[in-house]
Amino acid sequence: MKSVFVCNPASSLHQLMQDNQKAVHAYNMSALLHTQRIVCICLLAAIIIGTFLDTFRPCIPGYATTLILCFGIAKLFHRQHWQKYTLHGLYLMVAVLALITFYISLVMFPYRPTAIACMFFGFIPMLFIDRPIRYYSLLGLLYLLYGILVLWCKGSETGGVDAVNALISAFAGTFLGLLFLRSRLGFFEAQRQLFREKTTDVLTGLGNRRKLYELISAIQTGEKARPSGLLMLDIDLFKHFNDTYGHAAGDTCLHGLGRLLTAMEAEFHAGFYRYGGEEFVGLLWNCDSAALEQIAEVIRLNVQTIAVTGPHMTVSIGTLYGQDADTADVEKWLNFADQALYAAKENGRNQVVCWHPEI
Ligand code: GH3
Ligand code: MG
Ligand code: MG
Repeated sequence: MKSVFVCNPASSLHQLMQDNQKAVHAYNMSALLHTQRIVCICLLAAIIIGTFLDTFRPCIPGYATTLILCFGIAKLFHRQHWQKYTLHGLYLMVAVLALITFYISLVMFPYRPTAIACMFFGFIPMLFIDRPIRYYSLLGLLYLLYGILVLWCKGSETGGVDAVNALISAFAGTFLGLLFLRSRLGFFEAQRQLFREKTTDVLTGLGNRRKLYELISAIQTGEKARPSGLLMLDIDLFKHFNDTYGHAAGDTCLHGLGRLLTAMEAEFHAGFYRYGGEEFVGLLWNCDSAALEQIAEVIRLNVQTIAVTGPHMTVSIGTLYGQDADTADVEKWLNFADQALYAAKENGRNQVVCWHPEI
């Protein structure tokens, strides 16, 4: 049987970023805070040094403005409402740091080479995670602008030294930045695969009970939308099937059922989970009670078309429409759906029973 876990080490950086958006966002949020801290410490040190050294004293207003701006950007984009714009915050911070770099190098020290551009072009390429084409193109453009301005303002001799030093730093920074980017994304991908493995049932490819309970708790905290209804499905007389045709043939049935339910997930707004053994739970969103019953009926009929050894497989299904049950607790829904499933078994199997209070 083919494994449900596929980890392709040659995945493109763009694909890895797409697959690990949550982890990338969390990383960028911490990058914003850490950058602000590092920048503030460096600028504070520069301000203190500037108060003692005449050469750096005129730079103090520039350093102080940058410090306040970086602090403000980090605070603003760390607020809950702004967190989804973290990348914008990071690019804004890069723009502020580019401004102070250009200002110090071109305006404050027009007659001597400076180190600040080396720090900027060496440090920024390793700062955060974004699509390499966007991130490194922007840094390339900034370098081009800096190179032109520095040669124009400082002349070919002093400006040339600054431009070459910054270019070497930019190359080293970009090389290390890409190296870090791949290893960070590789780490996020390994974590994601591990989580998937923990929450996926290998035989059916569906979410396992752990994943179902994680979803239920996310629904209870309001993190995920409440489903409209729920269904519980159980293969009929599966023990007899196993005893007659063997456990391996039984596994093939479960695998086929898993594939069918996965296809149903894509067709309807639904999620199916292996609850245990030959029992499955489905959560359905955006449907009314008639649609819920209809979907359950479609599943019941389709199960009979799955190719299995011996006579076709049948299932009994108990459904519960959310508004029929006088409870906000999804776990209690499972009990009600189980009661409906029990009634379906009692009535002769291979049928759908919808829960109602008199059941
Ligand atoms: P009912 O119609 O009342 O549900 O009868 P049943 O035989 O399906 O129910 P019962 O609970 O008696 O048996 C469930 C069977 O499911 C027993 C077990 O061998 C089988 N089963 C559970 N998990 C697996 C599995 O992973 N692979 C296989 N092949 N069989 C399994
Ligand atoms: Mg059964
Ligand atoms: Mg059972």
